[in-house]
Amino acid sequence: MTTANLLDFDLDGLVVFCERLGEKRFRATQLFRWIHQRGASDFDQMSDLAKSLRAKLKTAAHIQGLPVITQQESADGTIKWLFDVGDGNAVEAVYIPEDDRGTLCVSSQAGCAVGCRFCSTGHQGFSRNLSTGEIVAQLWHAEHFLRARRQHPLQPGEDHRVITNVVMMGMGEPLQNYAALVPALRVMLDDHGYGLSRRRLTVSTSGVVPMMERLSEDCPVALAVSLHAPNDGLRDGLVPLNRKYPIHELLDTCLSYLAHAPRDFITFEYCMLDGVNDQPEHARELLALMQVFRQRAADLGHGVGCKLNLIPFNPFPESGLKRSPGERVQAFAKILLEAGIVTTVRKTRGDDIDAACGQLAGDVQDRTSVDARMARQRQLLQPLQPLQPMQSLDARPSSGSPRA
Ligand code: SF4
Repeated sequence: MTTANLLDFDLDGLVVFCERLGEKRFRATQLFRWIHQRGASDFDQMSDLAKSLRAKLKTAAHIQGLPVITQQESADGTIKWLFDVGDGNAVEAVYIPEDDRGTLCVSSQAGCAVGCRFCSTGHQGFSRNLSTGEIVAQLWHAEHFLRARRQHPLQPGEDHRVITNVVMMGMGEPLQNYAALVPALRVMLDDHGYGLSRRRLTVSTSGVVPMMERLSEDCPVALAVSLHAPNDGLRDGLVPLNRKYPIHELLDTCLSYLAHAPRDFITFEYCMLDGVNDQPEHARELLALMQVFRQRAADLGHGVGCKLNLIPFNPFPESGLKRSPGERVQAFAKILLEAGIVTTVRKTRGDDIDAACGQLAGDVQDRTSVDARMARQRQLLQPLQPLQPMQSLDARPSSGSPRA
């Protein structure tokens, strides 16, 4: 008999499951706490649950995380896990410690169908959506691994959490796996689960406009948007989804989202690609776009409106792209900063373990023919043809999504 994996349920789902077993709501809350706050996977550990309930659970349910294929640790404390999700597929989660926070970057799909030109996950093609349990299992594993490693006795009332922030910026487009994503976000937000605030939980999207609108109603967490280009001609070639949802439509939706967002700004991500989108004229075009967005946001009563995050590209051979030189990134940032747009340049973390999402998983599985996919990419990328000679210049054996 197949039994239910309890990692697949948010609290409401677990209540329904327990009611089917003839149990009251508060039992579901107890169970939920055991799983997520204490990391329990064995019903016999759950000492405050009646023996009769534990017996029922053993026949109807299980708590199953994801097998870890590898765990790599960087000298800077970054940890990257590669999880087995079956059928030769693997996904990654990356923990990034900082002085005042611990951030986990979580994957939502095995592969990705969006196919952004600069992203190694996109180059791997799409395998399948992760289930809610597979998304939650990345946080469940990381949090309880890190907590156990601290090895100090917890005091009553102490904040147990090691992971204070989660970003859905790993492998996959989260909003193309909406049905599994939203219950997973609810587990992360639930005070009986991980108790994250909506400000500390970020969904990053390449711009799936209808699902951004739904997210603003169903579970309005912080939003990051992968922009990467200041005009449609350029963005069409970098983020193919732009052909369906062009920049003006995307920005209109971002403005609507601000009415529900936990912060008064949207973060726009911009991956800096040598000779592609990193010139002063691109910065000025981006500035004009952001100034209009900021003014419209202010007119609607949203203070800051937008922040820009410039991301150093993690090169991988199939992309034919190179990282912008540091001085060009600084010059680009200066144009925006001097005009008052809040702009940061993302620090690279975990370089010694290739901690940009998408790298290890690509080594583990490569289901689709690289040649066929690259031929398709080249057809789609006519606007970038003048840059083709670069492809032969960069043969470094690393790859990665800019969203790590
Ligand atoms: S950047 Fe994100 S949306 Fe684009 S291909 Fe990579 S994982 Fe998919």
